[in-house]
Amino acid sequence: MKAKISDTSRLRIGVDGEGVTTLVAFMLCPLACEYCLNPQTLSDSYPFKEYTPEELYMELRKDELYFLATGGGVTFGGGEPLLNHQFIKEFRNVCGDQWKINLETSLNVPSSFLETVIPVTDEYLIDIKDMNPAIYKSYTGKDNSPVIGNLRTLAERGLAGRCVIRIPLIHGYNTPEDVARSESEVVALGFDRIDKFEYDIDYAKRKRDLQNA
Ligand code: SF4
Repeated sequence: MKAKISDTSRLRIGVDGEGVTTLVAFMLCPLACEYCLNPQTLSDSYPFKEYTPEELYMELRKDELYFLATGGGVTFGGGEPLLNHQFIKEFRNVCGDQWKINLETSLNVPSSFLETVIPVTDEYLIDIKDMNPAIYKSYTGKDNSPVIGNLRTLAERGLAGRCVIRIPLIHGYNTPEDVARSESEVVALGFDRIDKFEYDIDYAKRKRDLQNA
């Protein structure tokens, strides 16, 4: 089994999970966000490397001492990491139980993909964009019913405490009132770790322009 990986970023502290983490960015994503922060992951025409779970483990384990000393590990992002759900499950078999495995995900995937990774995941960092289906569709091009279904699954399994729900304010797409409504809806589902923030649209545009240059 191999996965296409855009990049790895080492020695991250407190940005995507507890302790010291390495971020692994998978290629490809089901969404088409207007201001994608990782446009280099959206198409096979950008550079990537292919890894088996064993090969990735061999590369990441140079930081194992930091992971173990700080309660950190690996954060799988992208792109959409859950497109590689079987790879992540297999990676857990290879790395063992001591590393944290975190996911940075939109949750806009079939429920079976989420089911695969629930037994091997420590923390979920979930960017819901906006709970309003019309806003979500206008920004991402996709329906958000899989997101809501997967949020319900995590809450029903008693995993809400392991989830951070990210709710961005995206100029031109939602308003502070929409963000507040989304927050109320996810709180009603049982989540209480909420990260509201404002997208840096200029940064995303610069990144996209550099990518296309
Ligand atoms: S979910 Fe993330 S990687 Fe996918 S299109 Fe949106 S910003 Fe880009």
